[in-house]
Amino acid sequence: MSGEDRCLRAVVFLGPPGAGKGTQARLITRALGIPHISTGDLLRENVENRTPLGLTAKAFMERGELVSDEVVNGMVRERLRQPDCEPGFLLDGFPRTLRQAEVLKELLRERGCGAPLVVNLGISYTEIVKRLGSRRICPVCQRTYNLVSQPPLNDNVCDDDGAVLQQRPDDREEAIRERLTAYEARTAPLIEYYKAQGRLHEVNGDRRPEKIAEELLQVIRQ
Ligand code: AMP
Repeated sequence: MSGEDRCLRAVVFLGPPGAGKGTQARLITRALGIPHISTGDLLRENVENRTPLGLTAKAFMERGELVSDEVVNGMVRERLRQPDCEPGFLLDGFPRTLRQAEVLKELLRERGCGAPLVVNLGISYTEIVKRLGSRRICPVCQRTYNLVSQPPLNDNVCDDDGAVLQQRPDDREEAIRERLTAYEARTAPLIEYYKAQGRLHEVNGDRRPEKIAEELLQVIRQ
């Protein structure tokens, strides 16, 4: 087996905040048996545990700004070293800048792998604001709900473990605006970057989650 073959399952989810990357990543990784690596989740874990990394990242995250490349790159480098990443991994929310994309390229090259498979989940801004404003998360299992389109069975508690759902501090209006600005300025250019490498697949994120997951699995398994 060549190095490229070993890395066929290096998948990146691009797309603006609210595109459904986290929801889709959870569905897809369950089906593919590879770890879901969300830099947002890793950072939130660090904030929760008050690690030095978390203390550095907290204020940036609450304002909806990007955490520095140096911090995030180090965190991802460390995570990809874990044995569960050997068969592959799905990155959700990384890379978000060109510098991060270059570091990912380097990390894959160190393993003898080529460029990752990149999926861009497209969605309109009106839909983003609608989704993020009514998004609620289970603090225990991280399952995501939408109070309008995918509400929990019982008012404001998780269907799986009964924990009280929470709103992320950066899902408030002011922070949403900042996150979209950061996305436009620093992450959107990655679409062209990966398109030029012939590794980009566009997927319409403005549909029912099961439909999107079906298409994503097809794209990834091809
Ligand atoms: P997410 O859960 O992916 O929406 O990320 C939440 C927040 O974590 C973002 O608004 C950023 O502040 C920070 N963050 C997550 N991933 C990255 C990244 N790759 N680079 C910089 N900041 C990040």
